[in-house]
Amino acid sequence: LGLDKTDASYTPLTPISFIQRTALAHPTRTAVIHGSIRRTWAETYQRCLKMASALRKLGVRKGDTVAALLPNIPEMLELHFAVPMIGAVLNAQNTRLDSKTMTFMLNHGRAKVFFTDMEYSDRSRDALTGCDAKPIVIDVDDPNFAGGELIGKMTYEDLLATGDDKFAWDMPDDEWQAIALNYTSGTTGNPKGVVYHHRGAHLNALSNIIGFGLPSGAVYLWTLPMFHCNGWCYPWAVTAVAGTHVCLRAPQPKPIYDAIAEHGVTHLCAAPVVLNMLINAPEEHKKPFSQLVTAATGGAAPPAATIAAMESMGVKVVHLYGLTETYGPSLICEFQDEWHSLDGKDKAAKMARQGILSLSMADMMVADPVTLEPVEQNGKAIGELFVRGNSVMKGYLNNPEETTKSFAGGWFHTGDLGVWHTDGYVEIKDRSKDIIISGGENISTLEVESTLYDHPAVLEAAVVAAPDNHWGEIPCAFITLKSGNDHLTAADIETYCRANLAGFKVPRKIVFMDDLPKTSTGKLQKHVLRSQFSD
Ligand code: ADP
Repeated sequence: LGLDKTDASYTPLTPISFIQRTALAHPTRTAVIHGSIRRTWAETYQRCLKMASALRKLGVRKGDTVAALLPNIPEMLELHFAVPMIGAVLNAQNTRLDSKTMTFMLNHGRAKVFFTDMEYSDRSRDALTGCDAKPIVIDVDDPNFAGGELIGKMTYEDLLATGDDKFAWDMPDDEWQAIALNYTSGTTGNPKGVVYHHRGAHLNALSNIIGFGLPSGAVYLWTLPMFHCNGWCYPWAVTAVAGTHVCLRAPQPKPIYDAIAEHGVTHLCAAPVVLNMLINAPEEHKKPFSQLVTAATGGAAPPAATIAAMESMGVKVVHLYGLTETYGPSLICEFQDEWHSLDGKDKAAKMARQGILSLSMADMMVADPVTLEPVEQNGKAIGELFVRGNSVMKGYLNNPEETTKSFAGGWFHTGDLGVWHTDGYVEIKDRSKDIIISGGENISTLEVESTLYDHPAVLEAAVVAAPDNHWGEIPCAFITLKSGNDHLTAADIETYCRANLAGFKVPRKIVFMDDLPKTSTGKLQKHVLRSQFSD
């Protein structure tokens, strides 16, 4: 019994169907909270329909790019539905990028419309000067932000007023149709435009719901930027469970603790650096909460000490691994019942591993980067992590060369090196460009950092390779200390490392800093630290 696209039972998978269903099933439930703004699911769905129809009237057609430079506010959530409702492609831009990179993205993606929050009006104006894509500019005037200037044709609310809330949205012709365009951070060369499709977004959202345990009516706090891999697909996932999106313009510890206590937040996603900020926040910023809070963390390796500290604060941690190219999460460190009986440190060490396939993926392996021969599952042999499945990107926009390279051999090459444990769990040891090779021995910078994080005085740590005439490379640690620990010396840290690491892994240089350089998504910029040794 063959099935093809002309059969009545074929409907393309798309996350737009989630909001339609939620607005029917739970019209009066709170969909969005942002400062004093509260909207139900019926209202939010109507606003999405109106915005979709308004964008169409503005001239946006199927396949066109709509760019958005917005923090985590209701408008950003609405665009995750309104834009694909007319077959257009959402390009959520990183709000921390410089205007030159923004110009590059607007041109490369051929943006037809550009939504910009007034907080970024200066940078947006600069980016638009010299931008030949000439998008129609729409200002988002968030009542929770004072300042900035109107630089566009009209505001979001003015545009919305031109729309029709009875608009019939377009089912995509095909579930492989593009839904989003997300640029990689471009630490080397120009950013690459990663294209997502409706099918992948739908399946990754469902996979998140199951992996993260999102119940109907979950109260989800937006600490992870929606511009980062479309917030790991959570705009669609939380909507599917008719949850409440609690918006926050900036993920600072005090407003996070306030929101958790005030709105009964049950779930949030955050990079390890944000969890660290919560752990080390001044006591007066912390607030008690009585509900169970589950935090998914990923985007960088969470030190076991961070996981243990969160759990001791009564937060359940779920560890995820992924890349922009995999719609965010593609591996999950699925919790095993027997880990409950482990002590805190051993349990956190298990949980700090990146884990196994998430539901939307089809296959993974740790293998030789050249021959693609899988390594032994012994927790020791290092190889590159390869994945394939439904939530791997369509490819890089207008970049067939890089697309072919990243799928060579029929697998997506993650560029991350790791080991495969006997229980099938992967543990990432390093990005291939970060690993240190000292006297022929591999040193995982993540392992050394994790040991440093176990030291009670260490706030943040980054380990990189420094060139060395004798060993080729030696590990060098850059450290920031928790307040009140200024008396600590490099020798103290070295002694501690000697007691807890194999000799060749002990950092040979230890540099104290006030701040570590981070990327726009809060990840350590190891190349900046390495460049200190270029002389
Ligand atoms: P960027 O390349 O700008 O950092 P991505 O968000 O795509 O952009 O980063 C993906 C990379 O982040 C992965 O290749 C991996 O190196 C790292 N990463 C993501 N999640 C984890 C994790 N849970 N553990 C270790 N590394 C992670």
